[in-house]
Amino acid sequence: MTKLYLALALTTLFCTAAYAQKRKIIDVHFHARSAGDYGNPPPDNPATGKAPNAQTNEAILKTNVGYLKKYNVVKAICSGRLLRNSDFILSDTSRFIGSLEYPDHQNNPLPDTTTFKKLFEEGKFAVFGELGLQYEGKTVADAEFEPYLAICERLGIPVAIHTGIAGPNTPYHGSPNFTIPSGRPLNVEPILKKHPRLKIQLMHMGFPFLEETKALLYVYPQVYVDISAIDWIVPKKEFYQYLKALMTAGFGKRIMYGSDQMIWEDAIGLSINQVETAPFLSNAQKNDIFYKNAMRFYNIK
Ligand SMILES: [Zn+2]
Repeated sequence: MTKLYLALALTTLFCTAAYAQKRKIIDVHFHARSAGDYGNPPPDNPATGKAPNAQTNEAILKTNVGYLKKYNVVKAICSGRLLRNSDFILSDTSRFIGSLEYPDHQNNPLPDTTTFKKLFEEGKFAVFGELGLQYEGKTVADAEFEPYLAICERLGIPVAIHTGIAGPNTPYHGSPNFTIPSGRPLNVEPILKKHPRLKIQLMHMGFPFLEETKALLYVYPQVYVDISAIDWIVPKKEFYQYLKALMTAGFGKRIMYGSDQMIWEDAIGLSINQVETAPFLSNAQKNDIFYKNAMRFYNIK
């Protein structure tokens, strides 16, 4: 009896592990970083205390791709400078989708609108984001972004906007113009009204502005959220509470998995495990969050 039980238990365990490995995942918030982007040496992972493997550009690329393969992340929206994105894309053209990040950690201006359109048409990027405008105390509704949003609406380019908060001491370290109100999800509403066909991804699911995020999701069906960073950087219970609230409110088809691994490649596994072990999510809901919702939002074939 005991042996049989043990054998059954082992079979179940094995099957669960095998299934978990097979689950297809899309990371909608992945960053193509370079050595030195976060200082030299870069800080340890704030959640695990682990030092990143970030001495060279080659090491960053290799380690990140290794983790993506390990966890069966079949697609990653690769946000960063276009030149660095191409290192990642060329290493595995079927896995990476380029995304134009702004600001880009090196104070490069946005390309003018003609170049922006041309770069898109040449396939250099497919998504406009991460727009980390909050770090500059700006919002996506500021007039300077209007011509870009008009192009995005016309050409069907999804726009991915950083919302919510940032790390401790952000205004004191490198982002003096950062403000909390500029990251509020409701700042997005004016552009939704002006551009009803614009696809918007609220990055970090508007955390911790739950009520504003719910309001936007209720009123504007074209808005999706990603759970990135919150899925590994804040206390697990807090992440679960927020995610559960969005699920309970009925938005399970518009929540997408993202790691926002930044310079810490171990965040990929960490964040996947948090979703995989969330006790309130069914298997079907996990498949939606990990894969299906992103397929729909990005129109991935
Ligand atoms: Zn962000």
